[in-house]
Amino acid sequence: MHGSTNDHAIRNDVLAVYPTETIEAHRAFVARRRALRPAEEYHTPTDAEWDDFLGHFERRKLSVGTCARAFGTACIHEHACVRCSLLRPDPTQRGRLVEIQDNLVDRITEAEREGWPGEIEGLRVSLAATESKINQIDTASPGGLVNLGLPALRRER
Ligand code: SF4
Repeated sequence: MHGSTNDHAIRNDVLAVYPTETIEAHRAFVARRRALRPAEEYHTPTDAEWDDFLGHFERRKLSVGTCARAFGTACIHEHACVRCSLLRPDPTQRGRLVEIQDNLVDRITEAEREGWPGEIEGLRVSLAATESKINQIDTASPGGLVNLGLPALRRER
């Protein structure tokens, strides 16, 4: 069923005022945030601070990808990168991840043979995480875009 002329008029009014309200609310939010933050955060950055900032991405490079944790924060995951959700795997390092995967499978076999159940549990978690990273690479196209497949026609009920 189609809406009435009155409905269209109301919707147009909402569309006309929405951006202004949004912009004003955002400006007020920024002003409140600035008032709350310490004034020293607004100083001109020193050369050392700029160097620190510019080197951020270099320092986040890992053998199998990039650590995506925030600037200026420490790793709170004990550098267990393959198991970490913040690791963005590098497609060019897929082979290295497969080596890690194979090694974990060998170590699980060894732990089962030697009777080290406590070891097996952790290795299985690492194996699942490694497989997940490989899967992440495989589902992304070479350009880093996710392949969503071809659209399918939906049947009418
Ligand atoms: S464990 Fe996670 S947060 Fe820590 S360095 Fe590795 S990817 Fe970064």
